[in-house]
Amino acid sequence: MRWSQTLIPTLKETPAEAEIASHKLLLRAGLVRKLTGGLYTFLPLGLRALRKVEQIVREEMNRAGALELLMPALQPPDIWQQSGRYESAKDVLFKVRDRAKKEWVLGPTHEEVITTLVAGEINSYRQMPKNFYQIQTKFRDEIRPRFGLMRAKEFIMKDAYSFDATDEAAQVSYRKMYDAYARIFQRCGLKTIAVEADTGVMGGKFSHEFMVPAATGENEVAFCDACGYAANVEKATSAVQRSEVGGQRSEVEKFATPGVVTIEALSKAPYDVAAERQIKTLVYLAEGKPVLILLRGDHQLNEAKLTGALGTGNFRPAAAEEIFAALGAHPGSLGAVGITHLPVYADEVLRDAADMTTGANADGFHLRNVAIGRDIQAAHWADLRLVQAGEPCPKCGQPLKIQRAIEVGHVFKLGTKYSQALNALFLDEAGKQQPAIMGCYGIGVTRTLQAVIEQSHDDNGIIWPISVAPYTVCITPLNAAPESAVMQRAEQIYAELTARGVDVIIDDRSDRPGVKFKDSELVGFPIRVGIGEKSLAKGEVEIKPRAGALILVKAEETVAKVMELIQQG
Ligand code: ATP
Ligand code: MG
Repeated sequence: MRWSQTLIPTLKETPAEAEIASHKLLLRAGLVRKLTGGLYTFLPLGLRALRKVEQIVREEMNRAGALELLMPALQPPDIWQQSGRYESAKDVLFKVRDRAKKEWVLGPTHEEVITTLVAGEINSYRQMPKNFYQIQTKFRDEIRPRFGLMRAKEFIMKDAYSFDATDEAAQVSYRKMYDAYARIFQRCGLKTIAVEADTGVMGGKFSHEFMVPAATGENEVAFCDACGYAANVEKATSAVQRSEVGGQRSEVEKFATPGVVTIEALSKAPYDVAAERQIKTLVYLAEGKPVLILLRGDHQLNEAKLTGALGTGNFRPAAAEEIFAALGAHPGSLGAVGITHLPVYADEVLRDAADMTTGANADGFHLRNVAIGRDIQAAHWADLRLVQAGEPCPKCGQPLKIQRAIEVGHVFKLGTKYSQALNALFLDEAGKQQPAIMGCYGIGVTRTLQAVIEQSHDDNGIIWPISVAPYTVCITPLNAAPESAVMQRAEQIYAELTARGVDVIIDDRSDRPGVKFKDSELVGFPIRVGIGEKSLAKGEVEIKPRAGALILVKAEETVAKVMELIQQG
């Protein structure tokens, strides 16, 4: 490709709309342009890189035995009603109407469509295992589209769906995808960690997310260097000790705490009740009804775990007046002592705790000497807390670390939720009808592309791994006059590399050398071949790997050296 003939609108200034490095670089390097929030056009260079990521994904899916197909993005709402997600996923569903005012759904994912297909096509255990995938545009009505391609309204996903006759076979399908994902991200030059993930309202059995560690990531991951335990904080646990049972069990005592409405205030003089000896009482409305949630004073609620405990994601913190209606007190003096008219969900760490202090459900008063079990009837016990850095690893006891990360892929063992709802049934060996056991596996292809940039750049621009670079080599003649010796040598190298199947771009613009060098660094081509008059007069050409030191080679050895660098990767 000739630079002058394509469209690479590089920008000197960082557009104000971009907050994170990769988003800035996508725009500055002329890879994408925003149409409007959450919607992007891929320019020629961006599209080339995207196609390379897609190709890696495709090759590894095929290698793992998955079958490529292509499903409609426009979907009838009745299959969404059948699966129950017309309601549960309503926040992200884009809906459109046709001329007859009939409603349609723009697919945010394809479990409903694939399961409907399989219901019609697969009816015997002999036809399984099967795994179908596609690389396709998804639509999600994200509340906060941001960070460019990271969270868009329209994006490209690779989604795969496995169907198995037995649990053991489903396990094998899951493992194959897990392994394929590890290879895909590695081939894209990405360092990822696979973490245990929350299964949320998808209703699955277990799942892993592939995370790219990055300070700008929207997820938090807890991990242990010592044993390799790693989990999304939504799911992570720790071996934090239960509160010790206090020595003597005195009667509950009400005491005045005028103006004290926080755990912190109560932990200071004159009260001096350490946060870990306090019970924090939260009031939530779940499916519209109040529930109490109890945590140790120094702990935070993990809403993903609460979803699991409540069996619904339809909840929110109650407003002050709703709390007053439920407990007769305002936040700051709430407690569960003697509460029998509301469901009480307590964090496991509080089990058997005694000598605790909590709100008295009377503004300006607290209760001390509270013993769970004796004074508080918690009908529901669950792990409800967010792990904190430094707590002991649940597997080996070493301190956990917490790091931010970008989720690029997700493998999920679904079970039979969708096959049951949408009648994907088959006859097993004994001739008995069973729902197929499903798994689903997603990779955000566009997000992965941006994650590569987020993980691999410097102050001058992107540092592409060869595998996904829009062009592997950029030839930069410092004199672009067609008859110049420099340009002729450049054309010769261009032709030779092209003939060897290398993706090459030649910067045939008549701009100053400084401009050309800056642009090629900004775009981040892995190898730059610089040809200048002075060095060429000495028979030399400069090869500059984007991430390495300048190499001087004899002009006639340029192609061989470039090929060697490409082979080294
Ligand atoms: P997130 O938690 O980031 O919203 P998700 O759990 O909703 O993601 P999945 O339904 O598992 O995502 O989708 C599979 C993959 O698609 C994700 O791992 C991610 O890489 C990508 N993805 C999801 N939502 C978006 C989006 N709005 N824009 C770009 N990529 C996305
Ligand atoms: Mg996910």
